[in-house]
Amino acid sequence: MSKIVMALDQGTTSSRTILFRDSGEIVARVGAPLECRYPQSGWVEQHPEEIWSSQQQTITEALAKAGRTMADVAAVGITNQRESTIAWNHETGEALGPAINWQCRRTTDFCEELKQEGFDRVLRCKTGLVTDPYFSGTKMHWILQNTPEARKLADSGKLCFGTVDSWLVWKLTGGRVHAIDISNASRTLVFNIDTCTWDDEILARFGIPRETLPEVKPSSGVIAEVDSRLFGGSAPIAGIAGDQQAALFGQACFQPGMCKNTYGTGCFLMLNTGSERINSEHGLLTTIGWQLGDTVTYALEGAVFIAGALIQWLRDGLELFEDAAQTEAMATTIPDSGGVYIVPAFVGLGAPHWDPYARGTIVGLTRDTNRNHLVRAALEAIAFQSTEVLRSMTSDTGHLSTLRVDGGAATNNFLCQFQADLLGLPVTRPQVIETTALGAAFLAGLATGVWRDQDQIQSLWQEDRTFTPKLERSTADPRLAEWSRAVERAKGWIPSTSV
Ligand code: ADP
Repeated sequence: MSKIVMALDQGTTSSRTILFRDSGEIVARVGAPLECRYPQSGWVEQHPEEIWSSQQQTITEALAKAGRTMADVAAVGITNQRESTIAWNHETGEALGPAINWQCRRTTDFCEELKQEGFDRVLRCKTGLVTDPYFSGTKMHWILQNTPEARKLADSGKLCFGTVDSWLVWKLTGGRVHAIDISNASRTLVFNIDTCTWDDEILARFGIPRETLPEVKPSSGVIAEVDSRLFGGSAPIAGIAGDQQAALFGQACFQPGMCKNTYGTGCFLMLNTGSERINSEHGLLTTIGWQLGDTVTYALEGAVFIAGALIQWLRDGLELFEDAAQTEAMATTIPDSGGVYIVPAFVGLGAPHWDPYARGTIVGLTRDTNRNHLVRAALEAIAFQSTEVLRSMTSDTGHLSTLRVDGGAATNNFLCQFQADLLGLPVTRPQVIETTALGAAFLAGLATGVWRDQDQIQSLWQEDRTFTPKLERSTADPRLAEWSRAVERAKGWIPSTSV
């Protein structure tokens, strides 16, 4: 029997386990839903024990489905929702309260305080991130301030902080190992991405004792063995990366200049910048992609807030069609969008505009606009927004060689073709679209000899289709200019007092 590698993909809305053959093929895939709770406006929480039990359930079911046991698994890889923060008691293993989800805005006031002091500049310089409630550090600060038991345990050296990867490693090892991988550490706002260590100046400002933090590990390498009592056998936990970084690895974007874009609810773009840390002039984040051996690979990251969500809105809000898959045929029944542009600034605009006061806008309507035009303009908007982030990446680095795409909306051929047309670069979609899980599997299998090296992994990555640019620049550039005019109309729509 060929070796199998297990990827645990712990996301915001589900926990999944996927088993891969050493050929990269999927043997079994099982998912379990996971709930978020919203106890107050802007607060988002999850239950740490539910995160674990849902993951545990999918591990058991995936092994059963494949007719294998944990002892048959050559390596376990973990990829996870990033930034979400959990605190637990080192002695009992019990979580102290909820997991504070990455979406939770409860630390907005503390972030404002840091900005007023000018500490945001220290954070940007040392961590590559912006001062925002999104990241873990201010959530840890909140837990210490608001959970008396956490404070007490911290004072007696018995508090553990962790991100979701740390929590899963803790659970999988029966409470023996408190670790985090470097890509997850780089999302905490307390990790120095130049020295690759927890930063004492930041920890002091946040009041976080260093000993509460996990040990930082490379993304590929054996960290520990799965406790044999859990699944009737043991296997090495050998690779970890945050979800976006894992997708970049799963897309085999190993060279500087290679970029991936995940077209889901929003778009997540990540560009490999190699061993060089690049600071963005456009508000993009600088982050760690992964560490293999002693070599750290850096990345630039940008997000588009509303992408596939715009398609959902056309489906559920305007009821223009029943299934997102219909949009490709609708968009191609007409030669163009008839001059219609939709700027889906439902929650403001992210990089490179950073305008929280922008709101959604449809411009260019005429008497003969029909729903196909709206659908086409919506798909185009996803590509326009991604192009703006990609152009920012190019002007920060001077280098974008390849774009590889994944995520639910990347199945849309019209969207991929239009993306290639706007960028003037080929866009490639892989056969295995589960790039996040595949990345975690690659990292783990690489550490245990399932795969020899990155060259071998590169050869496992198989393309489904490449979209080559068909539009002349003399047509594409004016379209980009028109898009910019539409964006100007969406900007600053609501009064600044209302955000
Ligand atoms: P997420 O992981 O963010 O929930 P997925 O990667 O599962 O998202 O992608 C789902 C999103 O992609 C939805 O917002 C949906 O509207 C959109 N989508 C799915 N299929 C298509 C399609 N064929 N064309 C355009 N958009 C699509």
